[in-house]
Amino acid sequence: MYRADTIVACATAAGRGAIAIVRCSGRDARRIADRVFSAKIEGPLEVGRVRLGCALAADGHTPVDEVLALWFAGPHSFTGEDVLELHCHGSPVVVELLIASMIAAGARSAERGEFSRRAVLNGKLDLLQAEAVADLIDAKMAAGARAAWKQLQGALSDEFAAVRSDLVAVLAQIEADVDFTDDELPAADFGHRSEALCRSIARLEGLLDGFAASRRQREGLRVVFTGKPNAGKSSLVNRLLGTGRMIVSDEPGTTRDVVEETVDLGGVALVLADTAGIRDAVGAAEGQAVARARETLEDADLRVLVLDASAQPDASDLGLFEELKERDTIVVWNKADLVGEVPREKLREFEGPGIEVATLSARTGQGCAEFAERLSSLAGRDREGEPVAISRIRHRAAVERALEPLNRAKALVISDRDCELAAADLREALAELAAVSEAVDNEEVLDRIFSEFCIGK
Ligand code: GDP
Repeated sequence: MYRADTIVACATAAGRGAIAIVRCSGRDARRIADRVFSAKIEGPLEVGRVRLGCALAADGHTPVDEVLALWFAGPHSFTGEDVLELHCHGSPVVVELLIASMIAAGARSAERGEFSRRAVLNGKLDLLQAEAVADLIDAKMAAGARAAWKQLQGALSDEFAAVRSDLVAVLAQIEADVDFTDDELPAADFGHRSEALCRSIARLEGLLDGFAASRRQREGLRVVFTGKPNAGKSSLVNRLLGTGRMIVSDEPGTTRDVVEETVDLGGVALVLADTAGIRDAVGAAEGQAVARARETLEDADLRVLVLDASAQPDASDLGLFEELKERDTIVVWNKADLVGEVPREKLREFEGPGIEVATLSARTGQGCAEFAERLSSLAGRDREGEPVAISRIRHRAAVERALEPLNRAKALVISDRDCELAAADLREALAELAAVSEAVDNEEVLDRIFSEFCIGK
C-alpha cells in the first residue's frame, strides 16, 4: 500500500454552500473518525451506512457542526484505503475547523490530486482513468463530459491494453525463436507476425488521428473567422459571444492579433478565433499578425469567410476564397441590413462543393440566430459514435515514441532480419505504451500529472 500516512482535504469547491465534504484517507482514518466524530446514536461507523452526529474541534470535545459521516473500508473505496467523509454545512470556517481537528488527530493536509494519486498507486484506477476524473470535473461542455466518462469507464485503457497484448504475443514468439536456427522456423510465422505488427501500428495511428477530434470534444470546435478588414468579423464574433470583447472599429486593420474566445453553443464549445484581416501586409507588425492568422486558419476545424455584402467583392476576397474553398468553410454575407438581398451573380462567385452560405447582419442581428444554430449543429456532428481517442499531449507523445521502434521492428520482421534487435524494439515500444496507463515508478512523472489536479481531488 502506498505511503503510510493519512491525508485530509475538503472535497467540495471552496466557498460557501449548503454542504461541504471533508474527506480523510489512510491507515489512521478509523482512529481519526473516533476522535473527531461523535455519533448521535451510539454505535460504530459501518460501510454502507450514513451516521448522523457531531463533529468535534481539535480539542476533542467542543462541537463544531452537526454532520453526516460516511465510512468506506479499504480496499473498497476511491483511494483503496480506509476513507472517512464528513458532510458538514458548507462554511469555509467549519471546513477549516474540521480539517484542523483531523490534523490534530494525526492526519496531514493532502497535496494536489493526492486522493487520485493514491487511487492509481493502489490499483483502483489507471493513469488514463485518473486523468478522466480530472477531465470530467473540468469538462466545459456535455460532449467533453461524455468523452471523459467513456475514458473513466476504461475505453481508452482497453484500447491500449489490446495493442499491448498483441505486441506481447509477437514479442514472445520472437524471443522463443532466438533459440532456434532459421531453417527450423515455419515461414508462415513471419507473415503472421508482420500482420500483427501492422495491425497494432494501424491502431495506434488511429488513436493519433482521433487526437484532433477528441481535443475538439474537450476544448471545443475551432471556428476561425477570416475576411478583409472591415467586413464585420469582430462584430459577428461579438454577436455570437454576446459581449463587447473584440475591438470593433471603422479603421481597417484594427484586429492585429488572433483573439480567442470560447462560447457555448448548444452544449458544444466553439473556439472563436478572430484573425487579423488577411491582406497584403502594410506594416511589419501587421505582417506578423497576418502570418499568425494564416497559421490559425490551418489549425481550424471550420472556417468562416466574412464578406461585406454592401461592397463589390475584389481580388483579395476571391483570393481568400480560393485558399479556403477546398476545406470546411462557411461564406457569410454580412451587412445584409444595407443591401437586402445579395445579388445572384455575387453569390455565384463564392459557390463550391462543401461551401455553405449564410446571409446576415452582425449589426441588426438579422440571420445571426440561424447562423449560430448552424455552427452548433456542425460542431455536434461528431459528438456521437466517435471512437475512443487520445486527447492529451502526454498520450500523443507516448504513442509517437512507441511508433518509432514499432516501425523498425516491423521492417526487421518483414525482411526476416535480426530477431534480437526486433525484440529490443518491441520491448521499447511496450514500455512507452505501458507508461501511458500504468503508474510508472517515477515520482517526477506522477508529480507532473497530478500537479494539474486540485487539492481534494
Ligand atoms: P472587422 O475588421 O472585419 O473585424 O470588422 P468590424 O467588425 O470591426 O466592423 C467594421 C465596421 O463595419 C464597423 O463600423 C461595424 O460597425 C460595421 N459593421 C459590422 N457589421 C455590420 C453590419 O452587419 N451592418 C452594418 N451596417 N455595419 C456593420
